[in-house]
Amino acid sequence: MSIIVFSEHRNGNFKKQSFETVSYAYNVAQNLSTNVVAVAVGELPNEELEQLSKYGASKIISVNNPNWNIHDTQAYTALLSEIAEKEDAKMFVFGHSNMGKAIAPRLSVRLKAGMVSNIVGLPLSTSPMVFKRKTYNGGAFQHLEVKSDKCVITVNPNSCDIVENPQTVDIQVYDAAGSDMKTNITNTDVITGKIILTEASTVVSGGRGLKSGDNWKMIEDLADVLGAGLACSRPVSDEGWRSHEEHVGQTGKIIAPDLYVTVGISGAIQHIGGVSGSKVIVAIDKDKDAPIFKYADYGIVGDAFEVVPRLIESVKKFKAS
Ligand code: FAD
Repeated sequence: MSIIVFSEHRNGNFKKQSFETVSYAYNVAQNLSTNVVAVAVGELPNEELEQLSKYGASKIISVNNPNWNIHDTQAYTALLSEIAEKEDAKMFVFGHSNMGKAIAPRLSVRLKAGMVSNIVGLPLSTSPMVFKRKTYNGGAFQHLEVKSDKCVITVNPNSCDIVENPQTVDIQVYDAAGSDMKTNITNTDVITGKIILTEASTVVSGGRGLKSGDNWKMIEDLADVLGAGLACSRPVSDEGWRSHEEHVGQTGKIIAPDLYVTVGISGAIQHIGGVSGSKVIVAIDKDKDAPIFKYADYGIVGDAFEVVPRLIESVKKFKAS
């Protein structure tokens, strides 16, 4: 019996989420007296694979084939169910990412396993398995008991700590050469120099309070000094002030940065649904009663056109000192 973690990486490095999910799995494995097996698909050097052993993986299965198409969820499902059977997986853990959300439900059908998505925090019980999950856009929490022997779960970003539990690791290369892919990536044009919103550790987000797209220069400058990604509320992208790529919330991207700074965003529930996983929220709004202040860890009540330039100057001074 084992707990398997699907470990995502980008540009040759594991995502932070992969260390969170391995730490999560290790904690559960301790309770179930079993071990953690991490699966990584794609070409990665052993030094990178070994990173996962720092957080509790005692076995790493490397599907070392550079040609895997990350969008072919059917091929991934077939591969991972094969590995799950071989490793006698009791639990399969994914991050609540686009890949996790696409593969986990398919895998749960194949394994005839109960599935729980959007999990926050460690299991409330391991016998039976009971998980706490976010629902209604982060407006409520549910407790779910799994009734099947096996389960497949997706864990929200930032909902568990990365904890070092170094293990002696066995790295095995898995031959998936015969995998039947239904699609093939023929070309990828990477946009360089842009911070990827869903992976940014700091995000600055502007709302309708900024009045017009012409006023975004100060938001870009604030993001620049903070080394942050740029986001916006939905009306901003509906108005065409910013691209829909930047829209966060229920109908936009879901993000969970360490620091989320909002400027002129009222804090509607549909917006909060996409950002409530942020570790620290700083809100700037001229209305002291704006709902955003209920969710914010720090709030500045004031006119954005006065506050933001002063904030930029302060950050610059702080960095220079
Ligand atoms: P507003 O609510 O208009 O807030 C503007 C804020 O700016 C106010 O708090 C105001 O006090 C402040 N302000 C004004 N001037 C200044 C100034 N000079 N300085 C400082 N502050 C100032 N919204 C999303 O964001 N994401 C979603 O994914 C999303 N999905 C939706 C899905 C559905 C089905 C529906 C019905 C709605 C959805 N919405 C979504 C819209 C959501 O309900 C809100 O209308 C939207 O989030 C409001 O955007 P806002 O905060 O930018 O604008």
